[in-house]
Amino acid sequence: MTSVVIILGPPGAGKGTQAVRLAAEFGLPHISTGDLFRENLSNETELGELAKTYMEAGKLVPDEVVIDMLFGRVAQDDCTGGYLLDGFPRTVAQAEALSDRLSEEWTTRTMQLDVPDEVLVDRASGRLLCKGCGNIHHEQFKAPAKEGVCDACEGELYKRADDAAETVKERLEVYHSETKPLIQYYGERGMLDVVDGSRTPDEVYTDLRALLTTSKASEQEVT
Ligand code: ADP
Ligand code: ZN
Repeated sequence: MTSVVIILGPPGAGKGTQAVRLAAEFGLPHISTGDLFRENLSNETELGELAKTYMEAGKLVPDEVVIDMLFGRVAQDDCTGGYLLDGFPRTVAQAEALSDRLSEEWTTRTMQLDVPDEVLVDRASGRLLCKGCGNIHHEQFKAPAKEGVCDACEGELYKRADDAAETVKERLEVYHSETKPLIQYYGERGMLDVVDGSRTPDEVYTDLRALLTTSKASEQEVT
């Protein structure tokens, strides 16, 4: 069995923070569609140009565009043994496209980070990202030891343009209308676990890690 692990949750829920740790511990490539778009933006590719207006407005990039980009990425060699998705799927159409693509030897495991909206705006609007290693700091909740500098790699920290409070609100609305239906989609199929994402990163990580360890054990019984 090969697994796709999906981290589902609203903007600011901590998907990126948790995904980086899980990927390292379980040896899975961490595939973040937001990071892929940001890479394309900074390299000024055609895809970046296309995604830019949507991202800046807090809207979703059209499904066909995201699906093509994601499928191109997971077709690479490092993903043959499984991978971890962060930021995909974000619509039911994306979830269906993913499930159509995966053959029967693949299992899908979805873990939802549940966080109330009030917490999300504060989290996203203070967020600081590292240009060097992708590490995530926060102005109040996880301030770097030295202002503007990443604790992990001493890279330069920056704020995402779409973390401005107004855009975060738009992203939350989009989440409620487009992405929340996925909770039902995966729930009905018995593929969903819910974790309380309003706690500290370490507490959340402990739960996610335990869930993944269980799924690994049950897969070994089958083979
Ligand atoms: P968040 O912190 O909101 O989870 P991401 O870094 O995952 O943000 O994504 C940033 C932006 O990139 C989104 O607001 C959206 O415009 C675009 N994007 C990323 N993934 C997808 C996707 N699966 N479908 C559509 N748009 C996406
Ligand atoms: Zn760094």
